[in-house]
Amino acid sequence: MRRPLIAGNWKLHKVCDEAVDFARELLDAVGSKTEVDVMVAPTFTSLFPVCQTLKSSPISVGAQDIFWESKGAWTGEISAEMIASTGATHVIIGHSERRQFFGETDETVNKKLKAALSCDLTPLVCIGETDEERSTGKTFDVLKGQIKGAFEGLSPDELAPVVLAYEPVWAIGTGNTATPEMVQEVHAFLRQFVAEFTQKDLANGMRILYGGSVKSGNIAELMALEDVDGALVGGASLEVESFKGIVRYN
Ligand code: PEP
Repeated sequence: MRRPLIAGNWKLHKVCDEAVDFARELLDAVGSKTEVDVMVAPTFTSLFPVCQTLKSSPISVGAQDIFWESKGAWTGEISAEMIASTGATHVIIGHSERRQFFGETDETVNKKLKAALSCDLTPLVCIGETDEERSTGKTFDVLKGQIKGAFEGLSPDELAPVVLAYEPVWAIGTGNTATPEMVQEVHAFLRQFVAEFTQKDLANGMRILYGGSVKSGNIAELMALEDVDGALVGGASLEVESFKGIVRYN
């Protein structure tokens, strides 16, 4: 079945030493065996030392973004191969903050997804509606469009490693977690839509994470939902104690 994944997105937090110290403490707290897959996403500058610290541990490391070209005159960008060379195995693509503040589109998400898959990085593809889109009844159309755009030109076999992260924009960093009913409704819809758009087996095996103000106090009820296969956690992944409470939710 689908093994849950709990992923921490550190965003623009922690310099190298802090990131490495945190990784050590997290490893101590979580132990050498976990009941769920665990991943942390430091900034690019901390990827290599955090990967070294977590080498041979059950905690995976992911980048927060990626560029689609493999090399060339693209000042400031980081390729899939460069990410993989740090030891990182995962990458977050299309986070709503990238979409909101850095011009990320479904088209660039698609290019980044292809680049990640070409280097065997496990992509966490983020989708989600804004407050206005939800209140005007557009949630499902928005999500469909984001999935279609992201998966364009990729076969079911190629899409097999993809993890979807449903992150309603209005729930990110706001303390307003979506209700369990809302989350299950959307996750079931996403699985059904992925089945129709690609293949049923792919949809059944695809991990769909929820993200948006997840904390130790609400993770258990979210994880109990049939179509929730883990969480993408921002704020509550920044302290070892709170992240540990999420990873060890049961
Ligand atoms: C996120 O950044 O992906 C996120 C879900 O943040 P938070 O948990 O802080 O809402």
